[in-house]
Amino acid sequence: MRKEFWTLPLKALDPQEWEALCDGCGKCCLNKIEFEDTGELAFTRVACKLLDGQSCQCSSYPDRHRYVPDCVVLTPKKLEEIDWWLPATCAYRLRSEGKPLYDWHYLISGDRESIHRAGASVRGWTVSEVSVTEDDWEDYIIEDLA
Ligand code: SF4
Ligand code: SF4
Repeated sequence: MRKEFWTLPLKALDPQEWEALCDGCGKCCLNKIEFEDTGELAFTRVACKLLDGQSCQCSSYPDRHRYVPDCVVLTPKKLEEIDWWLPATCAYRLRSEGKPLYDWHYLISGDRESIHRAGASVRGWTVSEVSVTEDDWEDYIIEDLA
């Protein structure tokens, strides 16, 4: 990968660099509720069944679509359509807005644990969708995901 590739425009990244841009926060693996009347979106603490709540990684990333067919494959084009529901700290969203990565991003800090120390990941506070029915997701709404 090129030196400081994360400062390049997103469309200039090769597939390996694109994958490496992910900070591993796990926030996009939280279930969301879209309210029909207002169109507002709320994140919940209820995570996808494949999310490991400690590592914040997908437990079956290469073949995740076998188990979660609607898991989004992020591409530059897809990003333009869905950036509004990505968390404000998401590395892809930041770069699409021309903003720098946070100091806790492992590409900056050189340490995969720094995001967790900074409290910028979902480590330790999710519940699995396996144990919460969809009707109860409203009880797990997160007011501020920043
Ligand atoms: S929110 Fe963005 S940076 Fe965080 S895990 Fe998802 S894609 Fe990666
Ligand atoms: S399948 Fe994996 S990458 Fe997709 S939402 Fe679930 S945990 Fe996240």
